[in-house]
Amino acid sequence: MSLRSFVSGAVGVAVLTLPLTAGQAVATPRQAAPRAAIPVTTVYYDASGAPSFRDVIAAGAANWNRAVSNVQLKESSSGATLRYTEGNDPQGSYAETDGHGNGTIFIDYTQAQQYDKTRIAAHETGHALGLPDHYEGPCSELMSGGGPGPSCHNANPNSEESARVQQLWANGLLARGVLQRIYDSALASAR
Ligand SMILES: [Zn+2]
Repeated sequence: MSLRSFVSGAVGVAVLTLPLTAGQAVATPRQAAPRAAIPVTTVYYDASGAPSFRDVIAAGAANWNRAVSNVQLKESSSGATLRYTEGNDPQGSYAETDGHGNGTIFIDYTQAQQYDKTRIAAHETGHALGLPDHYEGPCSELMSGGGPGPSCHNANPNSEESARVQQLWANGLLARGVLQRIYDSALASAR
């Protein structure tokens, strides 16, 4: 990132010397440079398949959006690569994802009655952003999922989890990978 900043700074300096001869022609590159310097990837998601959980999905996405800057989640019915669905599955909630912002997240009704709904949504979204499960972790860790039990209401990633996602998305991660279904059956069975 420091290299990008440097390059962008160098372009800025070069542009400053141009107006004497180039005039208006430099207006467009001068405006475009700052945007190019910030490598933000937007993952568009569609929550229409999980109408009962639309608010908690948005809350979970907002938690991630506050915690990281290299990738941002945005609800959109068109062009979404990540879809949320809901229903009953004896195996629990899951994320079927490549960890690159693509795939389907399923929220199980039974788990949502037992566990914090926003935590479930944010946890499954964490899989779509590339994080694995870590059930042994404390409640302060989002990817510990159901490990800390139903009394855990934390729906925010901790600093290590945020840093990991920042790192994974530092150069964008839009290329589609292989979808893998990650079941969170432990959410329902733990303790
Ligand atoms: Zn999980």
